[in-house]
Amino acid sequence: MERLRVKRPVEKKIAKGVKLLEKGDLPEVGISDELVYLYSSSDRFLARAYLSEQHKGIGWVIDREQSALNQTYFEELFKKARKNRGAFEASVTTTAYRLFNQEGDGFGGISIDRYGDFVVFSWYNAFVYAIKDMLVAAFRQVYPEIRGAYEKYRFQGPTEQSAHLYGEESPEAYIVLENGVQYHIFLNDGLMTGIFLDQHEIRGRLVDGLASGKSILNLFSYTAAFSVAAAMGGASQTTSVDLAKRSVELSQAHFEANGLDLANHKLMVMDVFDYYRYAKRHELTYDVIVIDPPSFARHKKKTFSVLKDYHRLVEEALDILNPNGILILSTNASTMTVDQFQKEIDKGFAGKSYDILSLDQLPDDFKQNKNDERSNYLKVFTLKVR
Ligand code: SAH
Repeated sequence: MERLRVKRPVEKKIAKGVKLLEKGDLPEVGISDELVYLYSSSDRFLARAYLSEQHKGIGWVIDREQSALNQTYFEELFKKARKNRGAFEASVTTTAYRLFNQEGDGFGGISIDRYGDFVVFSWYNAFVYAIKDMLVAAFRQVYPEIRGAYEKYRFQGPTEQSAHLYGEESPEAYIVLENGVQYHIFLNDGLMTGIFLDQHEIRGRLVDGLASGKSILNLFSYTAAFSVAAAMGGASQTTSVDLAKRSVELSQAHFEANGLDLANHKLMVMDVFDYYRYAKRHELTYDVIVIDPPSFARHKKKTFSVLKDYHRLVEEALDILNPNGILILSTNASTMTVDQFQKEIDKGFAGKSYDILSLDQLPDDFKQNKNDERSNYLKVFTLKVR
């Protein structure tokens, strides 16, 4: 096994419990898609790690063992992860959740999501992809009842993004439950599946009545999952706005799965900023506005980035929010801290006051590395405007 010496700041980072290795940590090292042993400059063994180029980072610290990885190692990790999700497994109202979450569950570069009797593996780099047979064999020992699996490539790998991995293929119209609400899922069509599982607590709050009797505007709605949750929780009407044409049929599928009448639920294919103008022109106002944009987007030569532009979304939302209205403001940008996000929000409020009803981050099934704030990328403020 290759031994690599790291400098003092990297040694400190590892001692702190940070797992993600970045380019600057090992500037002179070629990335080899292999296991390595990291040593301090005074030749003290620090950690077992692997190096592999990712969208973010160049590899992961694993632990302090000094041996090769084997199937038993992963079986133990998966068993532990399964034990941690006992409450989810026991639930009859939720059948979709994360089974294994990268570094939070002890091994960066892989996540596994459960959708009823099926699972989706996500590979974040070529190293985990190269050992996938061992990972899958270990997983099948721990979850023999899973009927079939799909895989997503979240690195520069195979040209496609998604493939069937093992077992049965899922039915065309596959429904999962979350907080008793049905969602229409597609397991083998690109990287997405029709629902972002990390938002289940927020949707749960909507199902539980946060928007009961209220009108709700859902911006960057994708498959309108927030709107469906709100509708099931008694919202009087919902409007969902997304640029992507395909979002309409995907959203309809979620509504129909729950027997909801589309008459009270509008689906608009539009740029969010255009919709703000449209709403103002037509004097449309809302009791609850949900804003959950991608970290970065480009549309007709205009770019949007949460780091610079989130405040504009807030500012415009306030213009069409009813008195005592609620804003649900979300971002999944790992590069933005909670403080930075709140500053952006305050900039949008420009001195107007609000009360924070809640700040939510990743739910329990998205287990995080407590020693690295970036791993808890999700931030959702629920605010009541005064
Ligand atoms: N809130 C969604 C997830 C959003 S994913 C959920 O809970 O499931 C981001 C979505 O933003 C994508 O569907 C994309 O089509 C849409 N989008 C990106 N830029 C946009 C813009 N300028 N106006 C409207 N929608 C946009």
